Amino acid sequence: MTEDLCIRYYKEFILDDAARKFEKVGSSLQSVVQSTLDEVEKTEQKTSAVTSELESQAQILSRQQPDQIADVLQKVLAESRNLAASGNELKTVLQASNREISQLRAELEMMKEAAFTDALTGLLNRRAFDMKIQQILETGDPETTFLLLLDLDHFKKINDRHGHLTGDKVLRFTAKIIKQHLPRGQIAARYGGEEMAVLLSAMERGEAFELAEKIRETLARSRLQRRDNQETIGQVTISIGLAGMRNDDTVESFIERADRALYEAKEQGRNRVIDDRHPSLKQSTAAAI
Ligand code: GH3
Ligand code: MG
Ligand code: MG
Repeated sequence: MTEDLCIRYYKEFILDDAARKFEKVGSSLQSVVQSTLDEVEKTEQKTSAVTSELESQAQILSRQQPDQIADVLQKVLAESRNLAASGNELKTVLQASNREISQLRAELEMMKEAAFTDALTGLLNRRAFDMKIQQILETGDPETTFLLLLDLDHFKKINDRHGHLTGDKVLRFTAKIIKQHLPRGQIAARYGGEEMAVLLSAMERGEAFELAEKIRETLARSRLQRRDNQETIGQVTISIGLAGMRNDDTVESFIERADRALYEAKEQGRNRVIDDRHPSLKQSTAAAI
């Protein structure tokens, strides 16, 4: 499939569909609110009609003989029952609107979650990652914030040998291992293709490195086998670059350091974790492009 075709399908089936759903939820909410307003208006009109009726009955009462008072009271009672019935109608409408709004809210929540989740792996998607890393750079402590970039080794070969669908399952399996090792509150995302990213806060460098090592080791120890034909996929490995945040970091410079460490891990033979303080990584200043 060409890149153009991929983009077209993505637009047609994913983006357009999401936009349509948002539009639907928005207009449903609007119509619920509108019908509630209509009901409130109707009740208001009835109430003012009843009020003026009561006023005129009160005037009559002040002029009438005691034996006619019972008649007038009956009328007042009828009006008041009428008003109570309207109140009940309004209550039923409002209760229904309330249920509908709760349902729409839940739908919106689900859509919001889907908009930030990578459908294949269940990790955060790139959009969410971009937001999180920006937030962390603004509020995080540089001493205790780390970024891991993880890239599957020779993944193209897995696709070539076993097909794209098996490749997808390997990606899902890798994401599962990352999730299993991730301490609560830390962030893991699919950065793109077969590359993932982990953002760690409130951690020592040694702990961050150890976590990366555990993920690498667990994947390297697993022996995967295809369920459909029992063929073994063999050892799947991952290379990881680790970078510590710096005071003057931008999103680009932070990612760039993790990326260079990842590149170094590939250069040194893959299936390893390299820290951005590794001696082979000279502190070069990146050229502006
Ligand atoms: P290296 O060790 O240098 O990273 O080698 P590699 O083969 O992993 O790297 P390369 O960049 O050459 O190839 C990455 C492959 O990942 C190519 C692309 O088709 C595949 N890929 C990217 N996204 C997906 C996906 O969502 N599913 C599957 N099955 N494959 C994907
Ligand atoms: Mg790769
Ligand atoms: Mg890659």
